[in-house]
Amino acid sequence: MSLVTLRRRYLDGETTPSEAIAKLAEEIASRDPRTGAYLSHDLDLALKSAAGADLSKPLGGLPIGIKDNINTLAQPCSCGSNFLAKKYTSPYDATVIRKLKEAGAIPFGRMNMDEFAMGSATENSAFQLTRNPHDHDRIPGGSSGGSAAAVADGTAFAALGSDTGGSIRQPASHCGVVGLKPTYGRVSRFGLVAFASSLDQIGPLTRTVDDAALILQAIAGHDPQDSTTLDAPVPDYSAQIDLGVKGVRIGIAQEYFGEGIHPGVRENVESRIRQLEGLGAVIVPISLPHTEHAVATYYVIAPAEASSNLSRFDGIRYGNRAPNPADIIDLYHQSRELGFGPEVKRRIILGTYVLSSGYYDAYYTRAQKVRALITRDFKHAFEAVDVILSPVAPTPARKIGACTDDPLQDYLADIFTIPANLAGIPGMSVPCGTTSFDGADNLPVGLQILAPHLGEAMMLRVAKAAEGLSLP
Ligand code: GLN
Repeated sequence: MSLVTLRRRYLDGETTPSEAIAKLAEEIASRDPRTGAYLSHDLDLALKSAAGADLSKPLGGLPIGIKDNINTLAQPCSCGSNFLAKKYTSPYDATVIRKLKEAGAIPFGRMNMDEFAMGSATENSAFQLTRNPHDHDRIPGGSSGGSAAAVADGTAFAALGSDTGGSIRQPASHCGVVGLKPTYGRVSRFGLVAFASSLDQIGPLTRTVDDAALILQAIAGHDPQDSTTLDAPVPDYSAQIDLGVKGVRIGIAQEYFGEGIHPGVRENVESRIRQLEGLGAVIVPISLPHTEHAVATYYVIAPAEASSNLSRFDGIRYGNRAPNPADIIDLYHQSRELGFGPEVKRRIILGTYVLSSGYYDAYYTRAQKVRALITRDFKHAFEAVDVILSPVAPTPARKIGACTDDPLQDYLADIFTIPANLAGIPGMSVPCGTTSFDGADNLPVGLQILAPHLGEAMMLRVAKAAEGLSLP
C-alpha cells in the first residue's frame, strides 16, 4: 500500500496508525529474517507515537524507515559500521527527521546499508546481507539497500536513503521501487553522517511517484544548520504532477546508451521513451561528452572527501575505542584498524593519497576540473531539453558475491548515476518493467529521469507519466 492510500484509509477511519504499525511489525517478523533490510526497529516507541498521531498533518501517522546514517534522537545510528555499532546513540534529530516528525510521520526502523554508504550492493554492511526481494540470491543494490528492499518487500511503506553517487536511485532500480535524489542543497544534510559532503543528498524511496513527492515536500527547504542548503522557495510538488508529458522535451544522450548495457535494460528503457513520445513528448538527441570520465572523477573526489570526513572517527569522540593502546597514536591506529571494514579503509587510503602533497594537483585538482566540465555538459543540454532519460544501471541486480574480488566492476556500474551528483542536479529512478539476466527472470529495471537544478517538479511530472505506462 502506498503512503497516499494508507493516509486515505486513516482519514476514512478504515484503519489507524497503531494498527498499521502493528501490521508492519508482523510483516517484518515474517519476511525480514530472510530479506535482512532492517538493522533494528523500536515497536513500543512507534506505537507510542502512533497513539498521539495528528492525522490532519500531511504525513500524520505514516511510518517511514530511516537509513542508518541519519541521526534520529535516542536511536542507534551505526552507518552499517562496527565503529559505531552498539556504541553510539544519536543525541539529536537530523533536520530531515525533525521535519518528518513535524509533518506527522513516525520514523520506524533503521535500515541496513553499506558501511558509511560506500558500496553498491549493501554487501559492505558490517552486520548482515540484505537480499533482493525479487530474487533472494541477488543484491538489492546499495548503499541504501535496506531502504529499497523493505519498500519492495512490503515491510516498509516508504524509507529515507542517501545518494552520493547513486545510492538511492540504483537500489530503487534493482528493487523495482521509486527513488529520488534531490538537487544538491534542496534537502538539509544536517544530521546525515557525512560521506562526501559536496555530493551527499538525502531523499525518499517509495512505492509510487506521488509518495516521493509527498516526502520531498516535507523534507525540502533551507536550513540554517546546513549552509549548503538553498534559500529558494519550495514549490508544491503535487500541483503539476498530473500534467503529463505533452510538449515536454526529453533529451536522449548517446553516451548513456553505449557499450556494456544489458539488452533487456536497453529495450525496456527505449520502449518506455517511445511510449512517452506517443503521449506527446518531444525527443531531442543531446550529447554529454564528458560522461566517460565521470566514474574516475567521482572515485577521486568522493574518497578524498571521505578520508577527511572519516578522520573524526579517531577512537576518542565516537564509538569504537581500542582496549589497550600503548599511546595516543596507537589508540588512533588500533581503533581505526578494528573499527573500519575493508572497503572503508580502501577509500580512506585512496582519498589520503589523492590529497597528499605532490599528488593533489595531479588527481584532486584535475578531478575538480573534469567535474566542472561534466556540470557544463548538463548546463548546455538543459538549454534544449526539460529532462534527460536513461537507464539507472547498465544491468539488473547481480548475484550476491559476484564482485567481492573485483570492486572495480561495481564502481564502473555507477556510470549513469554519478554524473548527477557531480553536477548537483536531481535524479529519479522509476520502475520500467522487468527483464531476464544471468539466469533469472523478472528482474526489475529502472528508468532514470534527470532534471536541471531545482527541476524536481518537472522530474516528478515525467516520472508520474512514465509510472502509469506498462511495457507492450
Ligand atoms: N556506489 C557508490 C560508492 O560506492 C555510491 C555510493 C553512494 O551513493 N552512497 O561510492
